[in-house]
Amino acid sequence: MSTKQFKAESRRLLDLMINSIYTNKEIFLRELISNASDAIDKSYYKSLVDENVSFNKEDFYIRITADKEKRTLTITDTGIGMTKEELENNLGTIAKSGSLSFKNENEIKDGVDIIGQFGVGFYSAFMVSDLVTVKTKSIDSDEAYKWESKGVEGYNIEPCQKDSVGTEIVLKIKENTEDEKYDDFLEEYKIRDLVKKYSDFIKYPIKMMVKKSRPKKDNEKEHEDYFEDETLNSMVPIWRKNKNELKEEDYNQFYMDKHFGYEKPLKVIHSKAEGIVSYTTLLFIPAKAPYDFYTKEFEKGLELYSNGVLIMDKCADLLPDYFSFVQGLVDSADLSLNISRELLQHDRQLKFIAKRIKDKIKSELLLMLKKDREKYEEFYKNFGRQLKYGVYSDFGANKEVLQDLLMFYSSTEKKLVSLDEYVSRMKDDQKFIYYAAGETVEKVEKLPQTELVKDKGFEILYFTDEVDEFAIKMLMKYKDKEFKSVSSKDLGFESDEKESKKETEENKDLFDFMKEVLKDKVKEVRASNRLKTHPVCLANDGDMSIEMEKVLNMMPNNQKVKADKILEINTNHEMFKAIKKAFQEDKDKLKMYSNVLYNQALLIEGLPVDDPVQFANDVCCLIK
Ligand code: ADP
Ligand code: MG
Repeated sequence: MSTKQFKAESRRLLDLMINSIYTNKEIFLRELISNASDAIDKSYYKSLVDENVSFNKEDFYIRITADKEKRTLTITDTGIGMTKEELENNLGTIAKSGSLSFKNENEIKDGVDIIGQFGVGFYSAFMVSDLVTVKTKSIDSDEAYKWESKGVEGYNIEPCQKDSVGTEIVLKIKENTEDEKYDDFLEEYKIRDLVKKYSDFIKYPIKMMVKKSRPKKDNEKEHEDYFEDETLNSMVPIWRKNKNELKEEDYNQFYMDKHFGYEKPLKVIHSKAEGIVSYTTLLFIPAKAPYDFYTKEFEKGLELYSNGVLIMDKCADLLPDYFSFVQGLVDSADLSLNISRELLQHDRQLKFIAKRIKDKIKSELLLMLKKDREKYEEFYKNFGRQLKYGVYSDFGANKEVLQDLLMFYSSTEKKLVSLDEYVSRMKDDQKFIYYAAGETVEKVEKLPQTELVKDKGFEILYFTDEVDEFAIKMLMKYKDKEFKSVSSKDLGFESDEKESKKETEENKDLFDFMKEVLKDKVKEVRASNRLKTHPVCLANDGDMSIEMEKVLNMMPNNQKVKADKILEINTNHEMFKAIKKAFQEDKDKLKMYSNVLYNQALLIEGLPVDDPVQFANDVCCLIK
């Protein structure tokens, strides 16, 4: 009997498989199990449409057998089998995918679905095997056939002996190489792992005889090995079950089994969508950020399944960066999947699902904010920073999605509040959303710049994360209300401003002198309207704030940016009398005063003083 040649495309794919561009060799088992499961699906389908065919649930299973001595791994199924022609067509050529044509020929009824179009498929067996033997008997034929191939050279088909309908695939496992330990694929633990990882939710039992140990009957102290048939897969994926069948513990258990996190999740989102693309999602919001969450090593992504078969461990395209903390999976029968990740990225259905997932996460978080405040705050403590980065990054492209989810500490409520809550509380005469930036709530609380705004009875949001001000600059407005820093040049209080302008005019020479002393360190020295009890502070002019200057200068290869600073003096403060006096009588003293006041203002901001030794000496000089 002569060896037949593979069709051109098959040869190419086979070549790829044998020389394995595909590093993930272990997926061959997933592929063969999927094929077996498809074959059983087809039997089931036939039983629905053909009275002569019965479907007895117990008769349908997949079996894996490993023989270390012979180095063979056998995958047997009790599915529909293949006729000689089908063997030829299905395994001789890749272009004709059997699952695909079956799908087209028959309208698929509920409950029958066939995984097709994987792209990798049957030939992946050649990644781990140098001789593949397929023995099969079709439900439509009395004869059985054997297909055998060592790879690219071609394949043989001949009649063989096989009693039952179904298919048996025997892989002669390759010898170990330096890079790859093929032996592993004959180990029980490895097979178990692979089934759990990729095929846990195949609908039919995947059985294997496993070695166990028990005390001997006649001598309890000694143990004997025995073999027992075990089903390796759990068959029904939790996400396919109905929500009302499931308890919180079930979800939590699944979450831990999957190693999504070490403690129970904060929130579970389990939903089914039907429509243009049908899919199920099971998402988790962790209670705590993983230890590597804010590092480069962290990899976002959801597991992607096609009909219960794992296609990808971490499909990054399913999650936007700002929701990268979400764990979980998506299962869809509608995805056409392919070998390359690049193609997947351009998949329209995948994009569609990703968009829906994003909307879903957002609406669930908003719901939590409204209905379960405590939980949301806990969430926000862990992941709020990620949301704020999300507002800031991509030039604010996602600010609309995220703005309602933001929270900041409030000066009046003494807890985290949302922007919506802030705006709803704004006074009639309040034009802006006020904020103050600093390292901690305690430090911001004490900032002199907050005095006037607090005095007016207006609420102030405290920005204590580095990213806060950057995010807000991107947001610019919320519900048409502009954000305003309590340190910004003008606060929008006209009458107060008039007053301080007048004071500044009246003391023009004095302030000019001080500005002369401080040179470029400040843009201006002027009378303050925002200070009530405190003597001095810095205000800032322009887009770059003092907090932003601090943050940017802490970054590696910083550009040494500088915020434009205005030194503001409280002209109602006792110390101003001394300044005025010095201006009249002792200009050297005023020089020293100017420096001391400026340095004090820097300290209040948490900025380093330019010359600490000089500053200390100046202060001592004043004590004398
Ligand atoms: P796909 O599963 O995407 O169709 P594969 O390369 O995995 O592609 O398989 C090719 C075809 O070979 C299948 O469509 C099916 O018709 C046939 N086939 C493979 N394995 C089996 C099996 N265990 N039982 C019956 N038919 C099979
Ligand atoms: Mg397949």
